[in-house]
Amino acid sequence: MPRPILATVHADALRHNLHRLRAAAGDARIWAIVKANAYGHGIERVFEGLRSADGFALLDLSEAQRLRALDWRGPILLLEGVFEARDLELCSRLGLWHVIHCNEQIDMLAAHKTQLPQRVFLKMNSGMNRLGFKPERFRAAWTRLNALPQVDEISLMTHFSDADGLAGIAAQFKVFQAVTHDLPGERSLSNSAALLRHGEALAASSDWVRPGIGVYGSAADYPLHSAADWGLLPTLSLSAKLIGVQQLEAGDSVGYGSTFRAERAMRIGVVACGYADGYPRHCGTGAPVLVAGVRTQLVGRVSMDMLTVDLSPVPEAGMGSEVTLWGMAADGAVLPIDELAQAAGTISYELMCAVAARVPFAST
Ligand SMILES: *Cc1c(COP(=O)(O)O)cnc(C)c1O
Repeated sequence: MPRPILATVHADALRHNLHRLRAAAGDARIWAIVKANAYGHGIERVFEGLRSADGFALLDLSEAQRLRALDWRGPILLLEGVFEARDLELCSRLGLWHVIHCNEQIDMLAAHKTQLPQRVFLKMNSGMNRLGFKPERFRAAWTRLNALPQVDEISLMTHFSDADGLAGIAAQFKVFQAVTHDLPGERSLSNSAALLRHGEALAASSDWVRPGIGVYGSAADYPLHSAADWGLLPTLSLSAKLIGVQQLEAGDSVGYGSTFRAERAMRIGVVACGYADGYPRHCGTGAPVLVAGVRTQLVGRVSMDMLTVDLSPVPEAGMGSEVTLWGMAADGAVLPIDELAQAAGTISYELMCAVAARVPFAST
């Protein structure tokens, strides 16, 4: 028997979340972001649930090839553009649209031999200072691109650093508007947080929106809002089983470093999940977990292959009982991934992307 741990991708939840985001997006078309192997879910596993998206956006050319292999004929956008000149040949061959964020990419395009002009998204660095042309360089880049026979339509794009927080989008949006107001082309500005929190303010500049984490059922602005507040459902559940039970007496300790000591007699469950499965080792006593759908807590340190949980609230639990590390339990109870991420001092994105290769996947 394989080790009893399983990651499950929920196609219905993907469909539901996409529908929910579409309602927030008004007339804008939706890029479903599937970078990082669809936030750890697996591109092939999410494809069916997301096929009503208007396009898919990602970074790895190999992931774009996998989408074409699934017979996706619609738009695909490379969010970081090409990394070297010959990537442009693949763009031509697979019909990939790509971001232009620096002059080197324009040079490559100018030297590229193609019959088919390519669709590009010109990216402005409106304040995040990661990728993109500074506002004062943006129009020159646009003019240069516009003169190239290799270029078809030019769309305009930027990315917000604080759409999920108090600073918001106003300052960056103002910069973007000031520079682009009289340029033609479609606009793409919003990640999940910008779409859900600032959708109205951005509606007139949103031909395409770019939700990622919302598609995967987590709240981009947790703990300000929960996924349930946004009407989103978990798309990835990590579950395992109890492979051991220990009866502790008052004063007994659990696990490496004896960091948890029982104050009274209690039952402890040993779960077939550890940090080598991608469970965050930073979680300690108190991190939330569901046993047979009942909420309880982690006790002691997470080890490589196991972790230990307090069975006091679930006296009926025993060997083989279902444990939900995050996501949905068999009875429909939910442990939001955002709550676990918070307990681990990280964000849901990282947990989703970190599920280890040794964990088997299933789809529902
Ligand atoms: C990852 C990414 C997104 C999606 O962000 P979420 O916070 O997951 O919605 C949107 N745009 C760009 C450029 C990205 O890299």
